Amino acid sequence: MTGTTAGTAGTSMRAALLREFGAPLEIAEVAVADPGPGEVLVRIAASGVCGSDLKAIDGKSPVVTHLPCVLGHESAGVVERTGPGVTAVKPGDHVVIAMNGPCGRCRNCARGRVHLCSGRARMTAIMGLMADGTTRLSAGGEVVRPYIGIGSFAEKAVVGEAMCVKVAPDAPLDLLALTACGVVTGVGAVLNTAAVEPGSSVLVVGCGGVGLNVVQGAVLAGATTIIAADVVESKLKLAERFGATHTVLADDLPAQVGAIVRGGADYAFDVTGVPEVLTKAFAATQPGGTTVMVGSPAAGRNLEIPPGTLFGSRRLMGTQGGDANPARDLPLLVDLYRRGRLDLEALVSERVPLEEINEAVAHVREGAVARSVIVFD
Ligand SMILES: [Zn+2]
Ligand SMILES: [Zn+2]
Repeated sequence: MTGTTAGTAGTSMRAALLREFGAPLEIAEVAVADPGPGEVLVRIAASGVCGSDLKAIDGKSPVVTHLPCVLGHESAGVVERTGPGVTAVKPGDHVVIAMNGPCGRCRNCARGRVHLCSGRARMTAIMGLMADGTTRLSAGGEVVRPYIGIGSFAEKAVVGEAMCVKVAPDAPLDLLALTACGVVTGVGAVLNTAAVEPGSSVLVVGCGGVGLNVVQGAVLAGATTIIAADVVESKLKLAERFGATHTVLADDLPAQVGAIVRGGADYAFDVTGVPEVLTKAFAATQPGGTTVMVGSPAAGRNLEIPPGTLFGSRRLMGTQGGDANPARDLPLLVDLYRRGRLDLEALVSERVPLEEINEAVAHVREGAVARSVIVFD
C-alpha cells in the first residue's frame, strides 16, 4: 500500500509536516478531504509532544515509512463533521482521540484484549492510512500520512469513529489531550498491565511525562512505597509532587532500592527504554516481583537478564500503551482528573502555538520538560 488520497478536498488547514527525517517540521497548508464512512473530522484543540514523535522525526519509528507525514498522537478536540454511518459522536462533541480504535469484532477484541486489536482499521491506522488504504490529507497534490491514523500536529484530523472518546464539554481539552498517550500508558501500565495491588512497593525508573504517570498510577493502586529514580534531580522533585514516597538519584538501583525495601521492590517499571537500565530495574525486584518495560528500546538492542533470576517467580512484561481499552480507560482518567485524584496540570511544562513546534520538540529532546503541549485557538 503506498497510499492515495480519496474523496473530495473538503477543507484545508495548517499542519506541521515531516518532509525529511531529521529535518525540522514545516508548517504548511494541507488539504483535508471529507470524512469517509465511519470517519470523523475533528478540530484539534491541543496535542502533546511525545517521545514517539521524536523517534519518528529521527527516522527510528517502524511505522513512519512514508513522508510527508503529520506527527502528533496525544490529542483532544471538537468534532466538526462526521462521515456516513457515524453514530458514536456528532458535530460539537468534545473528544479525546485514542491511539487505538478497536474494531470490537476480531479475536483479540472478543477476548477482551482490545489493546491488541488486529482489525483492519487499526492495522492500517498504525501505518498512517484509513481502513480503505488511502489518506484524507494532501499537500500540493502529494499524499500526506497522519501518524498512527491521527496526525494531531495540525488544526484538523480525520480519524476512525472508534478512536473518538466523547468527554464532558466543560473539561479542559488541553489537559485531557494528555490522557490519550502519556497518562493512559503510565497509569495503564500500573492498573492494567501489572495490576499492582494495595500495599505494594513500586519502583519507577525514568520520571518524564510517562514515568510521572506511572507514579500517580501507583498512588491510585494503593501502593504504599513508591520509589522514583532518575538521573536528573529536578525530575525527582516533580515525582514527589505526584506521590513518590522515596526518590533516588539512579546509580546502583538494586542496592539503592534494597536499602528502602529489603529484598527489593514488588514491582518495577522501566520508562527509560534503555536495556541496561531495564536490567537493573529487574534486578531491583524481589522474588515474586514483576518488571514492566514501558519505554521502548531502539531496534536491534538486546536485553541481558541472568536466566537464573527468573527462578523465584520473577516476571518480566511488556505493555502496549498501558494495555488500554480506550472506551473504558479514557473516561475513567477524565473522571479521576475531575475528582482531583489525577494531576494533569503539573504534567504541562509549556503551552505553545503550532508555529513553535520545533522549539517544543527541542525542549522534549533536551529532557527539560514533562510535557510540551501544542495548543490551537
Ligand atoms: Zn505518545
Ligand atoms: Zn479488534
